[in-house]
Amino acid sequence: MEKTLAIIKPDAVERNLIGKILERIESNGFRIVAMKRTQLTLPVAEGFYYVHKERPFFKDLTTYMCTGPVVLLVLARDSAIAEWRKLMGATNPKDAEAGTIRKDFAIDIEKNSAHGSDSAENAAFEIAYFFSQTEIQE
Ligand code: ATP
Ligand code: MG
Repeated sequence: MEKTLAIIKPDAVERNLIGKILERIESNGFRIVAMKRTQLTLPVAEGFYYVHKERPFFKDLTTYMCTGPVVLLVLARDSAIAEWRKLMGATNPKDAEAGTIRKDFAIDIEKNSAHGSDSAENAAFEIAYFFSQTEIQE
């Protein structure tokens, strides 16, 4: 079983989409092995997205991620990293395939409703960034 870090972003929490997104997660073979609803502060968001710190959208992205509560999740299944990214769809909802979370729920390329780790190395970093070992039950 592989693990990945997922976030239900502020745009989706604000529109009461937590339940709909969790339903898709569970019905697609993932186990939710850790979960919390919280509001990020700017330093926490900047630390989380440090890999993007040179990108032009870094300031907007980190500010946006603090505009309201988020839901942090650790998801487990075989190939969890790739499978969660497939279920989310492309970064830009305009490019996302039918039936994906971003196609169905995202507002635009920034307010795109969900986050997923993009590699095993980043998943390990991101999970440890938000959860201690004792908060994760498999
Ligand atoms: P995430 O990391 O959130 O799962 P991703 O891996 O599909 O998304 P990244 O390239 O890692 O996309 O970008 C991180 C986030 O930054 C995106 O999800 C989106 O919210 C925002 N973002 C990416 N590209 C742009 C852009 N061109 N303009 C505005 N925001 C962007
Ligand atoms: Mg990414």
